[in-house]
Amino acid sequence: MARYTGSSCRLCRRENLKLFLKGDRCYGDKCAFERRPYVPGQHGQRRGRGGKYSDYRIQLREKQKVKRIYGVLEKQFKSYYERAERKRGVTGTNLLIFLESRLDNIVYRMGFASSRNQARQLVRHNHFLVNKRKVNIPSYLVKPGDEIELREKSRKVPQILEAMGTVVRRGIPNWLEVDSSKFKGTVKSLPNREDLTMPIQEQLIIELYSK
Ligand code: SF4
Repeated sequence: MARYTGSSCRLCRRENLKLFLKGDRCYGDKCAFERRPYVPGQHGQRRGRGGKYSDYRIQLREKQKVKRIYGVLEKQFKSYYERAERKRGVTGTNLLIFLESRLDNIVYRMGFASSRNQARQLVRHNHFLVNKRKVNIPSYLVKPGDEIELREKSRKVPQILEAMGTVVRRGIPNWLEVDSSKFKGTVKSLPNREDLTMPIQEQLIIELYSK
C-alpha cells in the first residue's frame, strides 16, 4: 500500500483529534481542526461525531489514529504488534514503546524536526548519526544509551534550526536528553506508559488484532 499523500489536516478532522502532523501550523489559528471541527466530506457537518458505533468501528478508528500519529503503514504497524505480543510485559504498552523508539519519532521528540513527517524526510536525507554512524532508516529502533547527532554539514539547515527554536512550545520528554549547543541528544531510557500523554487507548487496538 502506498503512503498517504492527501491532506494531513483531513486526518485530524477524521480522527476528531489534533494529531500535530504539520509542525508550526498546528499551534496557530490556521489549524484546520480548530476552524472546521467536523468530519471531512460533503456531509461531514450533518454526520457530526455523535452516534452509536460498533465495537469494531471504535477499535478500527483507534488503530487508524495511532498509525496516523506515527505515520506508519498497516504492514509495519502489524509487525510492531506481533513483536509487542511476543515481548514480555503488556502488549499495548510494548506496541507504543516500539513506535516511540523509531528514529524519526526520536528526531521529532528531540526537537530537530517540527513534525514526524519532516523528521522522516530529514532522516532519509542522511542528516543524522546514531552513535557516530550514518543511519537513514526512519524505522530504525533506538535503544537506551544511543546518541543521536545532527551531522556537521546539516547544522545550518533552516528547517532544522527553526524546529530547534520552537521545540520549547511542546517540550522535550524527560526520557530524552538534548544538548542543543552540540546538536545532539541521548536516549536516557525508553518511555514508560505514563510518559506518553497522547489520548490513546491501545487496548482497543489489541482487541482488534486479537479477533
Ligand atoms: Fe492537524 Fe496540524 Fe492540520 Fe491542525 S494544523 S488539523 S493539528 S495537522
